Amino acid sequence: MDVIKTGFYGGIEAGGTKFVCAVGRGPGEIHSLIRFPTTTPEIAIPKIIEFFKSETQHTPLSSIGIASFGPLDPREESLTYGFVTTTPKPGWAHTDFAGPFFKTFGVPVGFDTDVNGAVLGEFCWGAGAGLDSILYLTVGTGIGGGAISGGKIVHGLLHPEMGHIRIPHDYIRDPFPGNCPYHQDCFEGLACGLAISARWGTLAQDLPDDHPAWDLEAHYLALALVNYTLILSPQRIVLGGGVMDHPGLFDSVRSKFRVFLNDYIQRREITENTDQYIVPPALGNQAGVLGAIALAQRAFQCKKEYT
Ligand code: ZN
Repeated sequence: MDVIKTGFYGGIEAGGTKFVCAVGRGPGEIHSLIRFPTTTPEIAIPKIIEFFKSETQHTPLSSIGIASFGPLDPREESLTYGFVTTTPKPGWAHTDFAGPFFKTFGVPVGFDTDVNGAVLGEFCWGAGAGLDSILYLTVGTGIGGGAISGGKIVHGLLHPEMGHIRIPHDYIRDPFPGNCPYHQDCFEGLACGLAISARWGTLAQDLPDDHPAWDLEAHYLALALVNYTLILSPQRIVLGGGVMDHPGLFDSVRSKFRVFLNDYIQRREITENTDQYIVPPALGNQAGVLGAIALAQRAFQCKKEYT
Protein backbone atom coordinates (compact mmCIF):
# COMPACT_ATOMS: atom_id res chain seq x y z
CA MET A 1 0.00 0.00 0.00
CA ASP A 2 1.55 3.32 -1.00
CA VAL A 3 -0.66 5.51 1.19
CA ILE A 4 2.17 6.54 3.48
CA LYS A 5 4.75 6.69 0.69
CA THR A 6 2.87 9.01 -1.66
CA GLY A 7 0.84 10.84 0.98
CA PHE A 8 -1.94 13.19 0.04
CA TYR A 9 -2.01 15.95 -2.50
CA GLY A 10 -3.23 19.38 -1.47
CA GLY A 11 -5.36 21.22 -4.02
CA ILE A 12 -6.32 24.90 -4.02
CA GLU A 13 -8.88 26.17 -6.50
CA ALA A 14 -8.63 29.95 -6.25
CA GLY A 15 -11.63 31.48 -7.97
CA GLY A 16 -12.77 35.04 -8.33
CA THR A 17 -15.46 34.72 -5.68
CA LYS A 18 -14.62 31.56 -3.76
CA PHE A 19 -11.79 29.22 -2.85
CA VAL A 20 -12.17 25.45 -2.73
CA CYS A 21 -9.37 23.54 -1.04
CA ALA A 22 -9.05 19.78 -0.77
CA VAL A 23 -6.75 17.09 0.48
CA GLY A 24 -6.87 13.83 -1.42
CA ARG A 25 -5.56 11.83 -4.33
CA GLY A 26 -8.08 12.26 -7.13
CA PRO A 27 -11.72 11.62 -8.09
CA GLY A 28 -13.48 9.55 -5.43
CA GLU A 29 -10.49 10.02 -3.14
CA ILE A 30 -11.10 13.44 -1.67
CA HIS A 31 -10.25 13.10 2.01
CA SER A 32 -11.50 16.55 3.07
CA LEU A 33 -12.62 19.77 1.46
CA ILE A 34 -13.39 23.36 2.48
CA ARG A 35 -14.95 26.33 0.68
CA PHE A 36 -14.74 29.98 1.66
CA PRO A 37 -15.02 33.43 0.02
CA THR A 38 -11.93 34.71 -1.83
CA THR A 39 -11.19 37.61 0.60
CA THR A 40 -7.51 38.74 0.70
CA PRO A 41 -4.16 36.87 0.71
CA GLU A 42 -3.60 37.83 4.38
CA ILE A 43 -6.76 35.96 5.33
CA ALA A 44 -6.90 33.19 2.73
CA ILE A 45 -3.33 31.86 2.72
CA PRO A 46 -2.99 31.25 6.52
CA LYS A 47 -6.45 29.69 6.51
CA ILE A 48 -5.44 27.17 3.83
CA ILE A 49 -2.14 26.41 5.57
CA GLU A 50 -4.05 25.64 8.78
CA PHE A 51 -6.47 23.42 6.85
CA PHE A 52 -3.65 21.44 5.22
CA LYS A 53 -1.83 21.08 8.54
CA SER A 54 -4.89 19.83 10.39
CA GLU A 55 -5.88 17.37 7.67
CA THR A 56 -2.45 15.83 7.19
CA GLN A 57 -1.33 15.09 10.74
CA HIS A 58 -1.11 11.37 10.00
CA THR A 59 -0.51 11.35 6.25
CA PRO A 60 1.92 13.96 4.96
CA LEU A 61 1.39 16.09 1.88
CA SER A 62 3.46 14.95 -1.09
CA SER A 63 2.86 18.12 -3.04
CA ILE A 64 0.45 21.02 -3.46
CA GLY A 65 -1.31 22.35 -6.55
CA ILE A 66 -2.72 25.85 -6.95
CA ALA A 67 -5.15 26.55 -9.79
CA SER A 68 -5.73 30.27 -9.58
CA PHE A 69 -7.41 33.22 -11.21
CA GLY A 70 -4.83 35.22 -13.17
CA PRO A 71 -2.96 36.74 -14.69
CA LEU A 72 -0.17 34.87 -12.98
CA ASP A 73 3.36 33.61 -13.55
CA PRO A 74 3.47 29.84 -14.19
CA ARG A 75 7.08 29.75 -15.51
CA GLU A 76 9.15 27.68 -13.11
CA GLU A 77 12.41 29.33 -14.18
CA SER A 78 11.04 32.81 -13.42
CA LEU A 79 11.87 34.87 -10.32
CA THR A 80 8.17 35.58 -9.91
CA TYR A 81 7.05 31.95 -10.34
CA GLY A 82 4.03 31.39 -8.16
CA PHE A 83 2.96 35.03 -8.16
CA VAL A 84 -0.44 36.37 -9.10
CA THR A 85 0.62 39.36 -11.23
CA THR A 86 -1.58 42.22 -12.44
CA THR A 87 -5.02 41.14 -11.28
CA PRO A 88 -7.53 43.87 -10.44
CA LYS A 89 -8.76 41.66 -7.58
CA PRO A 90 -8.32 43.71 -4.37
CA GLY A 91 -5.19 42.74 -2.43
CA TRP A 92 -4.00 40.04 -4.82
CA ALA A 93 -1.89 41.98 -7.36
CA HIS A 94 1.80 40.94 -7.25
CA THR A 95 1.16 38.42 -4.47
CA ASP A 96 3.49 35.48 -3.88
CA PHE A 97 0.80 32.80 -3.75
CA ALA A 98 2.86 29.61 -4.03
CA GLY A 99 5.83 30.71 -1.87
CA PRO A 100 4.19 30.48 1.56
CA PHE A 101 3.10 26.90 0.85
CA PHE A 102 6.55 25.86 -0.31
CA LYS A 103 8.14 27.49 2.75
CA THR A 104 5.68 25.93 5.18
CA PHE A 105 5.48 22.39 3.82
CA GLY A 106 8.75 22.00 1.88
CA VAL A 107 7.07 20.05 -0.91
CA PRO A 108 6.74 20.77 -4.67
CA VAL A 109 4.06 23.34 -5.48
CA GLY A 110 2.41 23.23 -8.89
CA PHE A 111 1.05 26.63 -9.88
CA ASP A 112 -1.06 27.50 -12.90
CA THR A 113 -4.25 29.18 -14.04
CA ASP A 114 -7.63 27.85 -12.98
CA VAL A 115 -8.37 26.82 -16.56
CA ASN A 116 -5.01 25.09 -16.96
CA GLY A 117 -5.81 23.19 -13.76
CA ALA A 118 -9.21 22.28 -15.16
CA VAL A 119 -7.81 21.08 -18.48
CA LEU A 120 -5.22 18.97 -16.65
CA GLY A 121 -7.89 17.44 -14.41
CA GLU A 122 -10.03 16.52 -17.43
CA PHE A 123 -6.95 15.20 -19.19
CA CYS A 124 -5.95 12.96 -16.25
CA TRP A 125 -9.33 11.71 -15.12
CA GLY A 126 -12.17 13.18 -17.17
CA ALA A 127 -13.34 13.94 -20.68
CA GLY A 128 -9.79 13.96 -22.06
CA ALA A 129 -8.57 10.71 -20.51
CA GLY A 130 -6.66 8.62 -23.03
CA LEU A 131 -6.05 11.55 -25.41
CA ASP A 132 -2.96 13.71 -25.66
CA SER A 133 -4.27 17.05 -26.96
CA ILE A 134 -7.41 18.67 -25.60
CA LEU A 135 -8.90 22.09 -25.09
CA TYR A 136 -10.91 23.26 -22.09
CA LEU A 137 -12.96 26.43 -22.24
CA THR A 138 -15.04 27.84 -19.42
CA VAL A 139 -17.90 30.16 -20.27
CA GLY A 140 -19.17 31.80 -17.12
CA THR A 141 -18.87 35.29 -15.67
CA GLY A 142 -15.82 35.57 -17.92
CA ILE A 143 -14.30 33.26 -20.51
CA GLY A 144 -11.00 31.42 -20.17
CA GLY A 145 -9.37 28.46 -21.77
CA GLY A 146 -6.48 26.07 -21.39
CA ALA A 147 -4.97 23.51 -23.72
CA ILE A 148 -2.91 20.38 -23.47
CA SER A 149 -0.85 19.58 -26.52
CA GLY A 150 1.24 16.43 -26.78
CA GLY A 151 0.53 15.73 -23.10
CA LYS A 152 1.81 19.11 -21.91
CA ILE A 153 -0.02 22.20 -20.72
CA VAL A 154 0.46 24.93 -23.31
CA HIS A 155 2.51 27.81 -21.91
CA GLY A 156 4.59 30.47 -23.60
CA LEU A 157 5.56 33.92 -22.48
CA LEU A 158 3.03 33.37 -19.71
CA HIS A 159 -0.14 31.43 -20.41
CA PRO A 160 -2.78 31.61 -23.14
CA GLU A 161 -5.61 34.12 -22.70
CA MET A 162 -8.20 32.41 -24.85
CA GLY A 163 -11.08 34.60 -23.79
CA HIS A 164 -9.60 37.66 -25.44
CA ILE A 165 -9.28 36.51 -29.05
CA ARG A 166 -10.98 38.49 -31.79
CA ILE A 167 -13.99 37.06 -33.56
CA PRO A 168 -16.16 38.67 -36.26
CA HIS A 169 -18.67 41.11 -34.78
CA ASP A 170 -21.62 42.02 -36.99
CA TYR A 171 -22.84 45.34 -35.54
CA ILE A 172 -26.10 45.13 -37.52
CA ARG A 173 -27.06 41.80 -36.03
CA ASP A 174 -25.58 42.64 -32.62
CA PRO A 175 -25.24 46.36 -31.83
CA PHE A 176 -24.01 45.60 -28.29
CA PRO A 177 -20.48 47.10 -28.25
CA GLY A 178 -19.00 44.47 -25.95
CA ASN A 179 -17.87 44.88 -22.35
CA CYS A 180 -14.20 43.87 -22.13
CA PRO A 181 -12.39 46.74 -20.38
CA TYR A 182 -9.29 46.08 -22.51
CA HIS A 183 -10.69 45.20 -25.98
CA GLN A 184 -14.39 45.95 -25.83
CA ASP A 185 -15.72 43.41 -28.37
CA CYS A 186 -13.26 40.54 -28.00
CA PHE A 187 -14.74 37.04 -27.54
CA GLU A 188 -15.20 37.48 -23.78
CA GLY A 189 -16.56 40.99 -24.28
CA LEU A 190 -19.26 39.60 -26.55
CA ALA A 191 -20.03 36.18 -25.13
CA CYS A 192 -19.31 35.88 -21.39
CA GLY A 193 -22.14 35.73 -18.88
CA LEU A 194 -21.72 39.40 -17.94
CA ALA A 195 -21.88 40.39 -21.63
CA ILE A 196 -25.12 38.42 -22.09
CA SER A 197 -26.65 40.16 -19.05
CA ALA A 198 -25.47 43.59 -20.20
CA ARG A 199 -26.73 43.09 -23.77
CA TRP A 200 -30.21 41.88 -22.89
CA GLY A 201 -30.71 43.61 -19.54
CA THR A 202 -31.36 40.39 -17.65
CA LEU A 203 -29.31 37.59 -16.17
CA ALA A 204 -28.34 34.90 -18.68
CA GLN A 205 -30.01 32.17 -16.63
CA ASP A 206 -33.32 34.08 -16.71
CA LEU A 207 -33.48 34.30 -20.52
CA PRO A 208 -36.09 31.89 -21.96
CA ASP A 209 -35.03 29.03 -24.24
CA ASP A 210 -36.43 30.67 -27.37
CA HIS A 211 -34.75 34.03 -26.74
CA PRO A 212 -32.45 35.17 -29.62
CA ALA A 213 -29.67 35.50 -27.05
CA TRP A 214 -28.98 31.78 -27.28
CA ASP A 215 -28.59 31.60 -31.05
CA LEU A 216 -26.20 34.57 -30.90
CA GLU A 217 -24.29 32.97 -28.03
CA ALA A 218 -23.90 29.71 -29.95
CA HIS A 219 -22.74 31.73 -32.97
CA TYR A 220 -19.94 33.40 -31.00
CA LEU A 221 -18.90 30.21 -29.22
CA ALA A 222 -18.74 28.27 -32.49
CA LEU A 223 -16.64 30.99 -34.15
CA ALA A 224 -14.14 30.84 -31.29
CA LEU A 225 -14.02 27.05 -31.29
CA VAL A 226 -13.30 27.04 -35.02
CA ASN A 227 -10.30 29.29 -34.38
CA TYR A 228 -8.97 27.13 -31.56
CA THR A 229 -9.49 23.98 -33.64
CA LEU A 230 -7.66 25.38 -36.64
CA ILE A 231 -4.71 26.51 -34.52
CA LEU A 232 -4.40 23.78 -31.90
CA SER A 233 -6.08 20.79 -33.56
CA PRO A 234 -7.35 19.38 -30.26
CA GLN A 235 -8.67 15.81 -30.14
CA ARG A 236 -11.58 16.96 -27.97
CA ILE A 237 -13.04 20.24 -26.74
CA VAL A 238 -14.47 20.44 -23.23
CA LEU A 239 -16.87 23.30 -22.52
CA GLY A 240 -17.60 24.17 -18.90
CA GLY A 241 -18.95 27.14 -16.95
CA GLY A 242 -22.43 28.23 -15.95
CA VAL A 243 -23.50 29.58 -19.36
CA MET A 244 -23.04 26.10 -20.87
CA ASP A 245 -25.70 24.73 -18.52
CA HIS A 246 -28.37 26.26 -20.74
CA PRO A 247 -30.38 23.44 -22.37
CA GLY A 248 -29.73 23.04 -26.08
CA LEU A 249 -26.69 25.30 -26.20
CA PHE A 250 -24.26 22.44 -26.77
CA ASP A 251 -26.19 21.14 -29.79
CA SER A 252 -26.50 24.60 -31.26
CA VAL A 253 -22.75 25.21 -30.87
CA ARG A 254 -21.92 21.84 -32.46
CA SER A 255 -24.06 22.43 -35.53
CA LYS A 256 -22.75 25.97 -36.12
CA PHE A 257 -19.21 24.72 -35.59
CA ARG A 258 -19.69 22.19 -38.40
CA VAL A 259 -21.24 24.83 -40.67
CA PHE A 260 -18.36 27.28 -40.10
CA LEU A 261 -15.70 24.61 -40.73
CA ASN A 262 -17.58 23.57 -43.88
CA ASP A 263 -15.93 20.13 -44.09
CA TYR A 264 -12.48 21.66 -44.26
CA ILE A 265 -11.14 19.23 -41.65
CA GLN A 266 -11.89 15.71 -42.81
CA ARG A 267 -11.98 13.85 -39.54
CA ARG A 268 -14.98 11.83 -38.43
CA GLU A 269 -14.67 13.33 -34.93
CA ILE A 270 -15.75 16.63 -36.47
CA THR A 271 -17.81 15.72 -39.53
CA GLU A 272 -19.91 12.98 -37.88
CA ASN A 273 -19.28 12.65 -34.13
CA THR A 274 -19.39 16.26 -33.03
CA ASP A 275 -21.40 15.27 -29.96
CA GLN A 276 -18.32 13.42 -28.75
CA TYR A 277 -15.94 16.12 -29.93
CA ILE A 278 -17.49 19.09 -28.11
CA VAL A 279 -18.45 17.82 -24.69
CA PRO A 280 -19.20 18.96 -21.11
CA PRO A 281 -16.61 18.36 -18.36
CA ALA A 282 -16.69 14.86 -16.90
CA LEU A 283 -15.52 15.86 -13.43
CA GLY A 284 -18.66 17.82 -12.56
CA ASN A 285 -18.65 20.32 -9.74
CA GLN A 286 -15.29 19.13 -8.41
CA ALA A 287 -13.51 19.82 -11.71
CA GLY A 288 -11.75 22.93 -10.38
CA VAL A 289 -10.32 21.47 -7.21
CA LEU A 290 -9.50 18.17 -8.91
CA GLY A 291 -7.59 20.22 -11.45
CA ALA A 292 -5.57 21.69 -8.58
CA ILE A 293 -4.90 18.18 -7.27
CA ALA A 294 -3.80 17.17 -10.77
CA LEU A 295 -1.35 20.11 -10.74
CA ALA A 296 -0.04 18.83 -7.39
CA GLN A 297 0.32 15.32 -8.73
CA ARG A 298 2.19 16.58 -11.77
CA ALA A 299 4.49 18.72 -9.62
CA PHE A 300 5.27 15.66 -7.50
CA GLN A 301 5.99 13.50 -10.54
CA CYS A 302 8.21 16.15 -12.15
CA LYS A 303 10.21 16.49 -8.94
CA LYS A 304 10.66 12.74 -8.84
CA GLU A 305 11.97 12.75 -12.39
CA TYR A 306 14.56 15.39 -11.57
CA THR A 307 15.86 13.84 -8.35
ZN1 ZN B 1 -10.75 41.26 -24.02
